[in-house]
Amino acid sequence: MGAESGGIKPPRQLLDRWGRVAKDLRISVTDRCNLRCSYCLPEDADTWIPRQDLLTPREFGRLAQVALSLGIRKVRLTGGEPLLRPDLEEIIRKIRQAFIEADLPAEIALTTNAIGLATRIDSLVEAGLGRINISLDTLDPDRYFALAKRDRFSEVAAALEKLPGSGLDPVKLNSVILDQKSLEELPDLVRFALRRGFQWRAIEFMPIGPLGGSAAVRPHASDIFRRLQECFTLTSIETDPAAPARRWNVAAGSDYPAGIIGVIASESAPFCASCDRTRLSANGRVYSCLFSLSFVDLLAPLRQGASNEELAQLWLSAQAAKPAGHTEITAERRTYSLSQIGG
Ligand code: SAM
Repeated sequence: MGAESGGIKPPRQLLDRWGRVAKDLRISVTDRCNLRCSYCLPEDADTWIPRQDLLTPREFGRLAQVALSLGIRKVRLTGGEPLLRPDLEEIIRKIRQAFIEADLPAEIALTTNAIGLATRIDSLVEAGLGRINISLDTLDPDRYFALAKRDRFSEVAAALEKLPGSGLDPVKLNSVILDQKSLEELPDLVRFALRRGFQWRAIEFMPIGPLGGSAAVRPHASDIFRRLQECFTLTSIETDPAAPARRWNVAAGSDYPAGIIGVIASESAPFCASCDRTRLSANGRVYSCLFSLSFVDLLAPLRQGASNEELAQLWLSAQAAKPAGHTEITAERRTYSLSQIGG
């Protein structure tokens, strides 16, 4: 064992027993976060991945090589909060290098709360970042503090003003629709996004995390759609069956341009049947599904000198066991946060 260049014979695919093929890799680069959104990471959260178990940029690059050899074509970095990694640019560089070596166009995206982004946009773009999703549930600083338990709204706002023209395209603003207040604020969020040339997406609350048990009483995609229709002129856009969002073109209004919005209805219209994702946690565990507690560990074999071929075999076995859908969620899973696997 030991060669980083262990030969891998393409074409191979991350196929599961239901016939789905993974092409989209979500990588969590850390489980830590600088916010404490009550529905995601409670204030008393105290179980973190030990620092020495966090994958290094070089290790992320190596696992990206393996994933690309198995048919992965897009990589999204998430967390926890990925910008908490001071070496995020280096992680992106290593993953881009893996795309280049595989002779593939680099498709690297980031999901972030945008705290600290304002000063790093240029370095992230220079490293190879192509697209970005910003999570922002409200434009009201008081509500932001109430939801996220941290007074950081002004830093997010500063980053959002710097994104137009930054080279990141598209920029998507993602808002979890938590309650009646979220529904009321939804038109402001849409207009805010369209004025800056961003896409906007509503995320239906998922039964996962500390408040997971309350999903049934949260607004559903039908409530979100009704509210959108009340406020905007929408034309449906044909979407890729594997895409999680249902999308619409929004006609321009008197004080905002035309643009694109979407609703991710993971609960009321789960897209599990066409899910094309596989997930790598910050400590090198492959999860085939966001809602699954089972994983295959790559960290130990990687650090013990496994070849790319051996790592590929482990990844194939993890993906083969992907559950059919969210119905297999256990009560135990609900107590875990999205920030642990990578939302
Ligand atoms: N820190 C980064 C961010 O804020 O985008 C990445 C990780 S965060 C876990 C990713 C997304 O998951 C955020 O948009 C967050 O709002 C969302 N999220 C967390 N728990 C959720 C839940 N129960 N239902 C729907 N979305 C959730």
